[in-house]
Amino acid sequence: MTSNCKNYSDTISIPENFPFPYEKPYEIQINFMKALYKTLELSKIGIFESPTGTGKSLSLICGSMKWLRDMKEKQKADLEKLIADEEEEKKKKALNPSSGFSWLTEHEENFEKNLQNMALRDSLDKQVKQEKEFNEMKNRAKTRSKQKINNQNKAVLQAKNGQEEKRNDSKDENFKDELDLILDDYKSDEEDFKDFDDDDDDNKEDQLTRIFFCSRTHSQISQFIGELKKTIYSDSARVVSLGSRMNLCINDTVLKLGSFQAVNDRCLELQKNKKSTNKSGSKKSKIDSGTKEPYDIEDFGKAGREEKICSYYGARYSIPSAEIIALPYNILFQKETRESFSINLKNQVVIIDEAHNLIDTIAQIHSVEFTDQHVYQSLTQLNNYVNRYKSRFSAKNMLYLRQLINVLTGLQKIFTTKDENAKLENSNGKISFKLSKMWTVVEFMTITKFFNLNFVKLLKFCEETQLEKKLIGFNEKFYPKVDVENEENKGVVKVKKECKNSTENSSSENQPMIKSPIMLIKQFMKALSSPLYDGRIILTIDPTTRSTLKYMLLNPNICFDEIVSQAKSVILAGGTMKPVSDFEQLIKEKERIEYFSCGHVIPKDNIACLGLSTGPTGIKFDFSYNSRDNNQILDELGRQLIKLCSIVPSGLVVFFVSYDYLDKVVNHFKKNSYLDKLNEKKTVFYEPRLSSECDRVFNEYIKAIKKPKPNSRQDGAILFAVVGGKMSEGINFSDELGRCVCVVGQPFANIKSLELQEKMQYLNKTQERGPNDKLPGQIYYENICWKAINQSIGRAIRHQNDYATIVLIDARYCNQSLFALKEKLPQWIGDSFKQESFTYDNSKIMEDLVKFYAAKSKK
Ligand code: SF4
Repeated sequence: MTSNCKNYSDTISIPENFPFPYEKPYEIQINFMKALYKTLELSKIGIFESPTGTGKSLSLICGSMKWLRDMKEKQKADLEKLIADEEEEKKKKALNPSSGFSWLTEHEENFEKNLQNMALRDSLDKQVKQEKEFNEMKNRAKTRSKQKINNQNKAVLQAKNGQEEKRNDSKDENFKDELDLILDDYKSDEEDFKDFDDDDDDNKEDQLTRIFFCSRTHSQISQFIGELKKTIYSDSARVVSLGSRMNLCINDTVLKLGSFQAVNDRCLELQKNKKSTNKSGSKKSKIDSGTKEPYDIEDFGKAGREEKICSYYGARYSIPSAEIIALPYNILFQKETRESFSINLKNQVVIIDEAHNLIDTIAQIHSVEFTDQHVYQSLTQLNNYVNRYKSRFSAKNMLYLRQLINVLTGLQKIFTTKDENAKLENSNGKISFKLSKMWTVVEFMTITKFFNLNFVKLLKFCEETQLEKKLIGFNEKFYPKVDVENEENKGVVKVKKECKNSTENSSSENQPMIKSPIMLIKQFMKALSSPLYDGRIILTIDPTTRSTLKYMLLNPNICFDEIVSQAKSVILAGGTMKPVSDFEQLIKEKERIEYFSCGHVIPKDNIACLGLSTGPTGIKFDFSYNSRDNNQILDELGRQLIKLCSIVPSGLVVFFVSYDYLDKVVNHFKKNSYLDKLNEKKTVFYEPRLSSECDRVFNEYIKAIKKPKPNSRQDGAILFAVVGGKMSEGINFSDELGRCVCVVGQPFANIKSLELQEKMQYLNKTQERGPNDKLPGQIYYENICWKAINQSIGRAIRHQNDYATIVLIDARYCNQSLFALKEKLPQWIGDSFKQESFTYDNSKIMEDLVKFYAAKSKK
């Protein structure tokens, strides 16, 4: 275990025992929970690394819940003592009243004391209120289960309600009333619009400490809730799972609108007109969650439908009575979304799981990308809409609609950017352009002349008039199946022709159009008008694919900083958090950082990691960009993999640096009969480029290992996969599915990429140099590579009795000190790295591998 917790004062008391669901937790789990407890107690920011299969989620739950409950108990005890002391003092004073001027000093002292006490009393009152609410929930749940006996009556009632609702909503279907499609008059920019989505002050005022558990996807949150159900906190923890309206809305008519924004807009509009789905008529009804066991997002959805309470608002209004709030990344990391949920992180504990790619994920959440097709689709919709209703719009509406058309026209022009140096001529003499260009926000606003427009006001107009939703309705009513090629669709054709230069050769011409492309344009405008963000706009024109325009956020640390500066404690947890320098760069208050990394639950001799700098015939494995296509090296790789197939039992997974390189290697293997030889020993599978094919290939791979063909000489299967591809995350190669995981080469990102170069330069300008005076851009570049490697090799060992070897095939792995290599690998893998890799020749290393598997087969 690595932890710097021991540097802190020993005055805080850390429990020796934690309520773990299994009789005796492993030592690493106890250490994890102790380190977590200490980090929370000291209000620090923790970077916690714990390999998959070591019970990370359970350790996070048990360590943090134990701390939360202890903290509350302590607060209660402190208060009770305080109140008792006060009473005692009052009694004493009544017996010895003060005389002379001493009453004045006493009064001042009492005033100070009272202020302090009031804060504590307030906190206690809130705790009591929270507990009371939860108990009420439990009682309601009991009553409801009794009521369920009378199912027949309920069914009749529900059917009736359903009909009522259908009647109310029938007008929404397909926007039968055309008046609904026309924008309401937009009155004034200065007018203070009431935000119908922002009246839940309860959540804002309450500053009780809670645990915000955040993960990337809903299924990861469901897994977390599943783990929570195994603990003693299952029936007592008050849990709320948050999701978007798209996840939790129970009004099917609204859900049918299909787009995130349209569902939001329609929901807000229904509330304005008091037509939202809600049993009490008020959207402040809560979902009685966690009365039997914690709910995940799906459970919230089901509960809402059963009770006819909106699950979305039900979850939101349940926050004050919750101790744990489970939420996806996009709710936590977007300030606006956080605010719309009334989440105030002051004094809160934030646990971010699966945090290994946190920086890129935050940057992605705040970046926007769209194609030329999205622009002309938006422009077409808007032109058609304006043409139909212009005589009925107010002057102000027309002003803003024209501005929006100007923005779209400006974007359209950008897609026709030409560069004589990027000219391409096809066999018919036709000229096209392939180029990438990048601008700062100021440059972009200047060349597009957007600086004349006030995006903030324009966005407000779009929001207030619900333009996006009206456009969707308009399009569905009048252009249900717009054929962009149809000459009769005049407005459409006009725009299509203007865009033709950039799209006519596109291979993805028949891509399905999205329902609400203007949503992307709005996000883009929002990004351009955010003063705190530092971003770049990148145009990519390629006649073989769709041309794209992208806003790239360069400083995701701003978004993270908002969270760190408010929260009491932030925990970043993941299976492979190394290298950690990225995270350190993300956190301003370096003195608050705690680092914890633990080993695996497996015995030490169940894992061996080694590097191969040369192949079986002594040829150097140089997979750097300039040498990796060398036929001699590819031949040597073929021989090496055949050798490994003979040594490794069952499943062997080989990761390559990209799909293109994988194709190249496979073609070479096919031509030179290496593939046939590999197939003699193991069935060969390749990771498909299409996600939809992944499950099929993986299932066939499993079948080849677990149910080999009768009389087959093959032993298991070999899978060629891609680092950072679909099989490098989320798929477990446990037991015989991955007795050996190899990485061929080092997956450095394309250094010629404009985006990467700009990001590196930006870091060089804004961050301090690292160890050995290394430029921060270079550190970032190397870290991307190592995080991807660590994700892939972390797939191998998944539980206590598992065993596997990890083989890093490239001389560059052995061209550094063991210390430097260990700094980059997860600790549990770094500790198992065989130092002999630096000195032994290939045959000696293969002998060691044979011994490793022989020892395992005896057990
Ligand atoms: S209030 Fe709830 S159920 Fe009604 S439309 Fe909004 S999200 Fe859907």
